Amino acid sequence: MNTLLAIFAHPDDESLVAGGTLARYAAEGWRTALICATRGEWGPISDESLADYENLGERRERELREACAVLGVSWLQFLDLEDGAVAAPDADEEVAALEKLARSIRELRPQIIITFGPDGLYGHADHIAIGQLATRARAIAGDPNAFPRHLDENLAPHHAPRLLYATAPQGLYPNLIARLAEAGHETHLWGIPPEQFGVPPQEITTTFDVTPFLDRKLAAMRRHRTQLDDSHAFTHLTRELAVEFFGSEFFRRGGAAADHVQKDCR
Ligand SMILES: [Zn+2]
Repeated sequence: MNTLLAIFAHPDDESLVAGGTLARYAAEGWRTALICATRGEWGPISDESLADYENLGERRERELREACAVLGVSWLQFLDLEDGAVAAPDADEEVAALEKLARSIRELRPQIIITFGPDGLYGHADHIAIGQLATRARAIAGDPNAFPRHLDENLAPHHAPRLLYATAPQGLYPNLIARLAEAGHETHLWGIPPEQFGVPPQEITTTFDVTPFLDRKLAAMRRHRTQLDDSHAFTHLTRELAVEFFGSEFFRRGGAAADHVQKDCR
């Protein structure tokens, strides 16, 4: 079975940068799977009636499960790392996270792994860290000398041929905020300066048209209610702006994937 595995840091990352891609592959008959490093338990809370810091992680896990159902993601696992501290696990936690990732890669045997790249979409330390862990786990999963005890469990080494780093072209998010302002809405993106998002457009190697799956992507993004307050850009997104700004998803080829793609092409 063809499998796409997405590996991200927080509930909502998947819908924002890869929701259309996940929905598209699921519709094409692929198994789509998601590993989420944290439950986003220290993230913002859009509305105090939804959650507090006693139960935000639980609430966000529920939101993520709903988003996965919308996107057709049939397999979900948490790494149980702490929100905000993915970049600073102690040595044991790091080995445990790599083991869990490598085990899942060997079990699922994905053709494609999607994660964050060195830009972390907007420099978020957790995003950069999960991208590094996923990149290392991909190499480890293909190495027969790594975690040999997996062999006793019939989990053979597996090298995922394609690694894609999800991102956005610089300028996309500032333009969105400007267009919403023209329409009379002063909005924000989780309070992050929009110019921090993305990479120079020439660094993007792979663009997926996800227009046919836009409704699913938007529905999945909106399942993450605790993250969207009244002045969030997504709260004011019209259909027209959604098509323009979220009709495509953007990736950079990561790791040695370029070599493999070339080999496949020969
Ligand atoms: Zn995130």
